[in-house]
Amino acid sequence: MERLGTGIRAGRLSPAEYESNFSDLHPRLDKHEALVAADRCYFCYDAPCMTACPTSIDIPLFIRQIATGNPIGSAKTIFDQNILGGMCARVCPTEDLCEQACVRNTAEERPVEIGRLQRYATDTAMEADRQFYSRAASSGKKVAVVGAGPAGLAAAHRLAVKGHDVVIYDGKAKSGGLNEYGIATYKAVDDFAQKEVDYVLAIGGIEVRHDQLLGRDFSLADLQSQYDAVFLGIGLAGVNALRVEGENLAGVDDAVDFIAGLRQATDKGDVAIGRRVVVLGGGMTAIDAAVQAKLLGAEEVTICYRRGKEHMNASEFEQDLATSKGVIIRHWLAPKSILAQDGKVAAIEVEYTKLVDGRLSTTGETGVIAADQVFKAIGQTFDASGLGALRMESGRIAIDADGKTSLDGVWAGGDCVVGGDDLTVSAVAQGRDAAESINRMLAAGAQPAVAVA
Ligand SMILES: Cc1cc2nc3c(=O)[nH]c(=O)nc-3n(C[C@H](O)[C@H](O)[C@H](O)COP(=O)(O)OP(=O)(O)OC[C@H]3O[C@@H](n4cnc5c(N)ncnc54)[C@H](O)[C@@H]3O)c2cc1C
Ligand code: SF4
Repeated sequence: MERLGTGIRAGRLSPAEYESNFSDLHPRLDKHEALVAADRCYFCYDAPCMTACPTSIDIPLFIRQIATGNPIGSAKTIFDQNILGGMCARVCPTEDLCEQACVRNTAEERPVEIGRLQRYATDTAMEADRQFYSRAASSGKKVAVVGAGPAGLAAAHRLAVKGHDVVIYDGKAKSGGLNEYGIATYKAVDDFAQKEVDYVLAIGGIEVRHDQLLGRDFSLADLQSQYDAVFLGIGLAGVNALRVEGENLAGVDDAVDFIAGLRQATDKGDVAIGRRVVVLGGGMTAIDAAVQAKLLGAEEVTICYRRGKEHMNASEFEQDLATSKGVIIRHWLAPKSILAQDGKVAAIEVEYTKLVDGRLSTTGETGVIAADQVFKAIGQTFDASGLGALRMESGRIAIDADGKTSLDGVWAGGDCVVGGDDLTVSAVAQGRDAAESINRMLAAGAQPAVAVA
């Protein structure tokens, strides 16, 4: 079998190339640009963009505040609904959410740049260290939050505002969840995830305990016995297996692990990448892994997706971003086996697929794509260890409209619950709303589910 290149290695590019490749995807608007962008808003009285935003930010109001030269007031309008509005401004697929619904989003026009305006306002306030919230008088109640991702942070902040004492437990060494370990590097440059964590925690009354894993270091029953309420925002810790021959070869990696390693690398030149990379999957993770592989200096990067373009979970914008960086996206291909040479990945054998009566079938026709590195981006799974009798549905935690689980005193939100859309902004909305529900329960003087030991 023909092989080109030298396999997987670090330092493919010069320091200047890494810096330029991983620079901010959408740099912040300057004041003049923000005023021009804000001026395009019609300030609709029944603003469809607000309905399309999972956190229901008052978008016409915050844009009007920018237009009248008040970005700090604008930031408060945003943070009132979404305390992680800074990160959401960077990572929301606005083309599917607020900007998709904008009345100016027509064949002739482009939508108001809501995401970029949101970033302008929130960055202005955060850089000036303007804090808008103080804690209510202490309620004397303690709430445990498991997971310091967007859902957990949003819940913790809202609970702290209401005067409750919060302890966040997280299995990792840093807070932020996928904002810190998953979001593409070029969407959150300059350590923004940690700056945002500091900004959120500045309210006070929130203690964070890192390297504390539910199911290993403590149980849900421990938390129920020690706290007045518990919020679970533990995301999706597992990954789907490929279940094809060669999956365990050196050079076959999980895309989420690859991205986490890249996000934590102090020097991008230390991150090893193949010359020919194949990414399996059709979602945001597949796009992010493929684009970042290209930016690290891979020569050929191919995404193989088993269905058509229209079925991809990655938005049209994300797909265009990938192709603009030179990534090839191939549809209707399923992995059949991963082929090795000298114990390392050499190629991937794929089989063509098609829909038969609405069901995906393989056609029997196969092909081989040369590769020295393969990333699996075929979906994450929920790890239910340590959750005892909690009711699950479709492999995730079942909740009601308030975020309550089947166990009294236990709420959940974000990626770990059933029915979500696996977006940062939705996790924030669910964390915030669960905190409001917990607060209502605590204010009503309800007793914890299990008597304090
Ligand atoms: C590669 C990738 C790229 C993405 N890009 C985007 C994007 O551009 N835009 C977007 O809107 N969304 C994106 N998403 C989705 C988004 O990141 C998630 O929807 C969001 O982070 C969910 O927030 P969460 O708080 O529910 O979970 P997470 O962010 O996963 O946080 C969960 C936290 O819980 C902790 N934890 C887990 N298990 C335990 C345990 N047993 N004990 C203690 N702590 C635990 C984890 O360490 C973590 O800190 C992306 C996801 C991935 C994987
Ligand atoms: S949080 Fe996201 S969806 Fe909501 S207005 Fe801001 S950018 Fe749009």
